[in-house]
Amino acid sequence: MAYDRDNIFAKILRGALPCETVFENEHVLAFRDIQPRKPVHVLVIPRGAWRNVGDFAAGASEAEIAGFIRAIGEVAQQLGLTGPGYRVIMNIGEHGGQEVDHLHAHILGGAPVGAMVV
Ligand code: 5GP
Repeated sequence: MAYDRDNIFAKILRGALPCETVFENEHVLAFRDIQPRKPVHVLVIPRGAWRNVGDFAAGASEAEIAGFIRAIGEVAQQLGLTGPGYRVIMNIGEHGGQEVDHLHAHILGGAPVGAMVV
């Protein structure tokens, strides 16, 4: 399936929809989830047109991949999550419960996150 250039996160990336940015650089944008499930709930997205970790891993440059992973660590550090801990989730496809078809990592923390899968 092709990348949909009108998905919500694509619109956020091009400034057509607002977001509460917590971090950005040449590779990623990180912003607060509109419906936070924990006291801290941030989404980290690559700037490129990638649907999920599968097409990203297969097609993105080493710099994009490194930039995405590094950003997750940096955002967690910046938000004070490194000490107490946090969870990173990537939902992929229908069985994964993915709602927005632009690759994103959820960073959840600020309180115990609970069971890994319910
Ligand atoms: P998924 O289920 O695809 O892994 O997660 C998509 C996430 O995007 C959900 O947690 C949802 O709350 C969040 N979301 C959906 N629309 C918006 C929006 O317009 N702005 C922000 N900041 N988050 C959104």
